[in-house]
Amino acid sequence: MNKESTFRVELLRGAVPAAVALALLLAAPLWQRWLPAPEPAARWPYLVLCLVAAAASLYGSRRRWTLDLGTVSLPVAVGFFGTAMAAWLVLVAYASREVLLRLLPSRPARPVRSEPRVDLVARGAHLALATLAAGWVWQGGNANQSLGWQLLAVVTYLVVLLGLHLLDRQWARLWETLEWREIAGSLALDSIGWLVGMAFIPVVASLGWPVALVPLAALGLLAAETARNLHLRRRAVHQVAELWEVTRAGHRIIFRSPDLAGMVGQVLEECRSVVPFSWFQFELLQGDGGPRSWFAGPDGRIEEGIPEPADSPPALPGVHRRSSWKILGRELKGDGESIARARFWCDPRVLEPTSVELLDSLLPQVASSVHRALLDRRAKHDALTGLADRGVLETHLEAVFSAIRDEGGTMAVIMCDLDRFKKVNDSYGHDVGDRALLRIAEVLEKHRRETDLCCRYGGEEFAVVLDQTNGETAQRVAERLRLEVQRTVFTAKDQRIHLRLSAGVAAYPELFVKDGKELLVLADEALRMAKRQGRNRSLLHLGRGKYRKSDGTVVEAEESTAEPEAPTLFA
Ligand code: GH3
Ligand code: MG
Ligand code: MG
Repeated sequence: MNKESTFRVELLRGAVPAAVALALLLAAPLWQRWLPAPEPAARWPYLVLCLVAAAASLYGSRRRWTLDLGTVSLPVAVGFFGTAMAAWLVLVAYASREVLLRLLPSRPARPVRSEPRVDLVARGAHLALATLAAGWVWQGGNANQSLGWQLLAVVTYLVVLLGLHLLDRQWARLWETLEWREIAGSLALDSIGWLVGMAFIPVVASLGWPVALVPLAALGLLAAETARNLHLRRRAVHQVAELWEVTRAGHRIIFRSPDLAGMVGQVLEECRSVVPFSWFQFELLQGDGGPRSWFAGPDGRIEEGIPEPADSPPALPGVHRRSSWKILGRELKGDGESIARARFWCDPRVLEPTSVELLDSLLPQVASSVHRALLDRRAKHDALTGLADRGVLETHLEAVFSAIRDEGGTMAVIMCDLDRFKKVNDSYGHDVGDRALLRIAEVLEKHRRETDLCCRYGGEEFAVVLDQTNGETAQRVAERLRLEVQRTVFTAKDQRIHLRLSAGVAAYPELFVKDGKELLVLADEALRMAKRQGRNRSLLHLGRGKYRKSDGTVVEAEESTAEPEAPTLFA
């Protein structure tokens, strides 16, 4: 059965009892004539009880189809308001409960899943119908106050409810899908609810409302406490299951993506599955180029930098208590050394101690995965810039080359070299030179396209491999990288250092080469030509000693042998 027709079946199933309940409500004046409502003066306690019942049922299990302790209110409602009104109240209580659940999505224990809307209507209508039936029986027998009639009312309620529920499911599947222990527990609770509720009526009648307040308050407390216990128990069960999940999931955390931000994103998701937080910071203490920090706000987007959350968590619907953040700070260790720090900004109003325990059991596994990923990364990436190293480049280059040779397509290589970089080192020291290289690597990495591989070829030379890209496009990419480097503001000792870059581009199959390595050699040739041509430019290798500038003009190898004047580097 497809989704659409399931929906139609659900709709019909929900609509039938709902329509019956509505018809009965519309006929309420008739009901009232046959079964008159009690004195108005005695009605008010029901409102309190109804609220307590709604609060208690708020925590009712999703799979229970009764109001649990809320059932206590049913006989009271029948006693005070008449059967029709009681059924109406059940529907209203049920609907408000559902609305409340949706208004409080951040409550930690609420597993509000995508339940078919019509199913909710059906369940509400079931409750209303059962109340109507029981009320009729009970009020019929209430005239002679016999216990037998009262019990019969309880039984009617349960039988109607169970009957409707059974009708709702296909008999064939029933025995597999129903959990009888749960149903029995639920029915027992309902019976107790009805009996307590019915006992409540004579108490109010004989002792008057001030005295009735005492059992009412006791009942309210009992309801609240039971609800709390149920809630805690279910949460505990849930978390044992979750813990198991986490233990298993911990072994599955494999950081496939070589980029660090991707790894941080994965850490974020793992942690979010166990603890609710609004802001997240991950600081890597070891790795390329010293400590680096990433963060994510409520939108979950990973950015590099330090988070700046507001002073306190945002207001929660229905919760008026203001509070400040609870910040959980944790250190991740690998081989006894601190490798990273993580901080979580949590809203204390929704943070459960068990979530924190779960987080603490997850983090060592995250730490070991991060550690492994960093070691792996260090083995394949350049230590200073974090870019891929020559080994990765060569493997990637050959893989792309053979795929294109066999299946068709285009590829290109860009070789870049910083202009007059030696001068930076000579004037400012190697330390500043290293910082400049790191900066350039960041620029290249940030502005390369997603499918390009960027690598530190050696010294201050970088190579970019572009899959499915022809020479012309690759030269545009090279120009973009060159302009980005030119725009980069880099200062040392209060002086701005103008960093410049030359690039050589070679593309396959525009140039006929036998492997990726040869393409790299040609790109390097174009780079050397760009240097000879005056630096801070890109040239595309056209073959046979010809190169194309970014403006489209073509230069030939013999044309430029003289070294032109060096551009001014420092200002
Ligand atoms: P041009 O390329 O424009 O011809 O001039 P250049 O001065 O950049 O010349 P070349 O490429 O031959 O010089 C490379 C210099 O880069 C030599 C060395 O001082 C510097 N270098 C290479 N690797 C590193 C490094 O890891 N750190 C630092 N600080 N400098 C490096
Ligand atoms: Mg250079
Ligand atoms: Mg060089």
